[in-house]
Amino acid sequence: MSKKLKNLKFWIHTFGCQMNENDSERLVGLLRRAGAELSVSPESSDLVIINTCAVREKSEEKLYSLLGRMEALKKRKKLIIGVMGCVAQLHKSRLIEKKPSIDFIVGPDNYLDIPRILSESWPDKVISTRWSPHWHGFSPDDVSRKSPVSAYVTIMEGCNNFCSYCIVPFTRGQEKFRPLSRILEEVRYLASRGYKEIQLLGQNVNVYRDPEKGRGFIELLEAVNRVKGIEWIRFITSHPKNFSPAMAQVMKDSEHVCHQLHLPVQSGSSSILEAMNRGYTRDDYLDKIGFLRDLMPDISLSTDIIVGFPGETEEDYRQTADLLRQVRFTNIFSFCYSPRPLTAAAKKTDSVPFEVKGQRLMEIQRIQKDIQLEENTSMIGDVVKVLCLGRNKRDSRLYSGRNQGHQVVNFTSDSDVIKRFVDVRIVSCGPYL
Ligand code: SAM
Ligand code: SF4
Repeated sequence: MSKKLKNLKFWIHTFGCQMNENDSERLVGLLRRAGAELSVSPESSDLVIINTCAVREKSEEKLYSLLGRMEALKKRKKLIIGVMGCVAQLHKSRLIEKKPSIDFIVGPDNYLDIPRILSESWPDKVISTRWSPHWHGFSPDDVSRKSPVSAYVTIMEGCNNFCSYCIVPFTRGQEKFRPLSRILEEVRYLASRGYKEIQLLGQNVNVYRDPEKGRGFIELLEAVNRVKGIEWIRFITSHPKNFSPAMAQVMKDSEHVCHQLHLPVQSGSSSILEAMNRGYTRDDYLDKIGFLRDLMPDISLSTDIIVGFPGETEEDYRQTADLLRQVRFTNIFSFCYSPRPLTAAAKKTDSVPFEVKGQRLMEIQRIQKDIQLEENTSMIGDVVKVLCLGRNKRDSRLYSGRNQGHQVVNFTSDSDVIKRFVDVRIVSCGPYL
């Protein structure tokens, strides 16, 4: 049976990082262009696609729980189920063996095949997980973005770092870079559509190298900074071993680059950083924080922390807690170490007991919550510039936006300020502002 895409109703659920969000936005655009319609629920859809994350075991478990719901639905109605992203790449055909209700599997490098897969013969199961070393082109108007104000722009895919705990190099493959000419084409397109903010995406954006003319990350930032209409530029993720003083300088000198940086430290202990194969020590990291703050005293810094890495002693953990107190990040994302297949760390004994990991995580989060509450409270009375992203999802009487530091600010206004910059006086706050 051949399945045509016209009027096919589809629903996508996305797990994981901003890269996955951006991949899903591109897929929605492609399917719409092929005549399919985005639907509000799986119940009202002919096709369900789950975009998956394999970074921690928990994220994989979430897929299985959602798949269980979709399987039950498939017993009641005709439904095509597709799984894309990192779990698809990791398990390939084994995923279909385990879950026969799945009709197709596509890796992070193959989701552009989905319209073709759907228009070809059916119900044969399809598995498409081959990497391509080349950047796959797409046109900026093929992307169906969730926000009309702030847009993700992917500048690279994959990663060559092989941090010992991380599955990404195995699921997203080797680094490949998008040509600067195509990045600028997309940024100009977004500016012409009224977008005010862009977030440049990649697993390690600092190593960007233009495949056409060899230009690096600094030249990329300078070029994007010159695009008229884009007021705020952010980028994620930076790697401490590749983030240089020259990059900090270009952040300071470029009018539109926000004084905000996500710089994942992972651990405050140099011996654990070595075991993680991160390529920097605690002191190297603190030096980078030092020059960033010297250049931009107003910079907002965030980080990622893993507790309970194999061999992490109480003293190693204390050094992480101490680093948080020293740096006073605006925000952190913290996780218990989760052994992942294929990684170097998975060959080591997962030595920190589950309960100890949990206690360390709770303590880290409590320390950080206190820091955030203190820092945010000190902002009461200040007037901050906020980019209004829309209405608050829980209380539609409020508007919601972010300040330059990427903190959420909710506020009232008599006029419609969506897509506009507004000066907001901070009158109250919580730890998460
Ligand atoms: N490329 C980015 C980087 O280097 O920070 C992001 C990689 S990953 C998608 C996001 C975060 O997940 C990492 O910074 C790390 O803190 C966490 N993470 C990755 N693998 C993990 C694991 N096996 N267990 C726990 N957390 C993990
Ligand atoms: Fe994973 Fe390390 Fe690459 Fe980030 S830099 S994606 S943590 S291997």
